Amino acid sequence: MILTAECKIRHVGIDQVYFKFEKKYQDFIVADASPFAAALLIPSMKMGQDLVIEGSISRELQDGMKEIIEKTASWNLGLKPIAILASEVRPDTLSQTDKNASFFSGGVDSFYTYLKHKERSDKIDYLILANGFDISLDNPGLWDQTCETVDDIASSEGIEVIKVESNIRGLIEPVLIWDYTHGGCLAALGLSLRSGLKNVYIPSSLAIGQLLPWGTHPELDARWSTEKISFHHDGADTKRVDKVRFIAQNPLALKHLRVCYINAKDKFNCGVCDKCLRTMTNLCITGKLSEAETFPRNIDLELIKTLSVCNKQKAILHEENLEELKKLGIEKELQAHLRDMLKDFYAPKFDSRKTIKKACYYFMEGLNQIMLIDFFYNQSRLHKMKMFLQKKLQKISEYYSRIFKERNAR
Ligand SMILES: [Zn+2]
Repeated sequence: MILTAECKIRHVGIDQVYFKFEKKYQDFIVADASPFAAALLIPSMKMGQDLVIEGSISRELQDGMKEIIEKTASWNLGLKPIAILASEVRPDTLSQTDKNASFFSGGVDSFYTYLKHKERSDKIDYLILANGFDISLDNPGLWDQTCETVDDIASSEGIEVIKVESNIRGLIEPVLIWDYTHGGCLAALGLSLRSGLKNVYIPSSLAIGQLLPWGTHPELDARWSTEKISFHHDGADTKRVDKVRFIAQNPLALKHLRVCYINAKDKFNCGVCDKCLRTMTNLCITGKLSEAETFPRNIDLELIKTLSVCNKQKAILHEENLEELKKLGIEKELQAHLRDMLKDFYAPKFDSRKTIKKACYYFMEGLNQIMLIDFFYNQSRLHKMKMFLQKKLQKISEYYSRIFKERNAR
């Protein structure tokens, strides 16, 4: 079952955007233009182009999107206020259901949202898993591995997994990075499925008090709702360390937790990146690291020494961990390394650091401009070349990891 639309996301050419669902969910699908409008709102604002829709969208969604425009235009991301010009706007008149769903990646936030709702009247009936969002369409191995895990979780819990595939990320990312556009794309999936769902939970990434401009946000998510379906930003009232404390009591989470964004071959969690090490510290605080099956059993302090904090969001999360370790009076050496790392972030020793940071910022901005020019005038050839090289590099790394494995087995 495929929902498609021809979208003019760039100044030249027409792109075919699609959302592909399993046939068994065909009764859930609403084939209006609402999902495409949600996914393309923020990219249109970045381009300063009105969102023109030749099709029908929900009236409540249109009102909500106007509020999203107002809010995000004030974020200083270069998002311009635009008009929404739909050829038809009407309220949803679909029959009501009582089914709830949540986006689920197997990470801390999505496990927290699922488990929190489990014993309540608003329990979650469906987990929504997207191919082409956090997992690249070019990484079928990781997708299969993730499906296997989430299927295992769902069958243990007696619930279902709705699997979706979409090419939207590859089309909008050259306009604006995923950090700011993923909220509208998640909403697009819920809007596509709204005939079969009443509530959709969007697990929060940050807690209240730590909020930054971000694609999913307590002030945005509910505004993607229609007369039929409600979106809820979930879990922002709980700090990450407390989320881990809660989910670490559940054997299913300890068996399947996946937080890593490195996507290393054959490894759910690489155990060496910032996010893995932060989560391992969380688990250490709860006393459950040795029981978490998808992580190394111990934190390698030499790896902690190599970490550096590059933004305020990460600094806040490391500070949370340091505070908890101090309160418990454990892992003194780990505390010392975290303290040094944070000191280096807030009071850098060398002035040159500021200059390097600034240069990095301008380099990234320049790169964004190159990607835009590539998108508008070069039919994304550079972007395609980048994807091609990524694919080749992945194949090479797969080849060598196979060789090493075979060698070790001998
Ligand atoms: Zn990792």
